[in-house]
Amino acid sequence: MSIEITGVSKRFGDFVALEDVSVSIPTGQLTALLGPSGGGKSTLLRIIAGLEYADTGTVGIEGLDATALPARKRGVGFVFQHYAAFKHLSVRRNVAFGLEIRKRPKDEVRRRVDELLALVHLEQFADRLPSQLSGGQRQRMALARALAVEPKVLLLDEPFGALDAKVRKELREWLRRLHDEVHVTTVFVTHDQEEALEVADEIVVINEGRVEQIGTPDQLYDEPANDFVMRFLGPVT
Ligand code: ADP
Ligand code: MG
Repeated sequence: MSIEITGVSKRFGDFVALEDVSVSIPTGQLTALLGPSGGGKSTLLRIIAGLEYADTGTVGIEGLDATALPARKRGVGFVFQHYAAFKHLSVRRNVAFGLEIRKRPKDEVRRRVDELLALVHLEQFADRLPSQLSGGQRQRMALARALAVEPKVLLLDEPFGALDAKVRKELREWLRRLHDEVHVTTVFVTHDQEEALEVADEIVVINEGRVEQIGTPDQLYDEPANDFVMRFLGPVT
């Protein structure tokens, strides 16, 4: 198991954001954390990332006890909804950034960045500024940048949430295709049932700080664990 979350709880003051959450995510799987807004999805993702620490419980990443490790020692890559690109750097330099600060040799950086830009079909935009890209292209750049340092785990928080429906659908397909190509263990947060059902190998349904069900899209549909899952996945009225 690549990501092993055991008995994680988190409070903000008196408010219980996560209560005794346990989830196992196999290496190479594309997993969605799905649930209504305010349920604790981002908090759980941030705890996996090391951007937040649990009050109780443990986080394992690839057999390593990461519970107390800072983000930079966990081997994780991130993509967020509002991607913070370096505005004054070209697309190429943005993708190269993580490799450059790690002092990787120049020719290795060039090779790797070329590979990644080809992977997300942005070769012809390498010398542009992020502001000259469309929203969808910018998130593809964000994906390439997160993958540049070859993370053990890729974490995405509502990565396509800010974009319009057509681009969002396109990016879902991108995420699925990229994942099938690089097989990096991936966890993405979404409140969009359709997005989770379409893209994920497995879905963790989270509501009010608890795991309601973990299963494949088919399992969730065929055997919803309770009324909440049934209602949440049910037809929109
Ligand atoms: P989701 O991503 O599922 O929408 P979050 O994990 O962002 O949910 O938030 C879960 C709950 O915890 C929300 O009610 C939110 O207001 C609260 N929360 C999250 N982060 C903090 C924080 N740093 N301080 C106080 N409350 C927080
Ligand atoms: Mg969130």
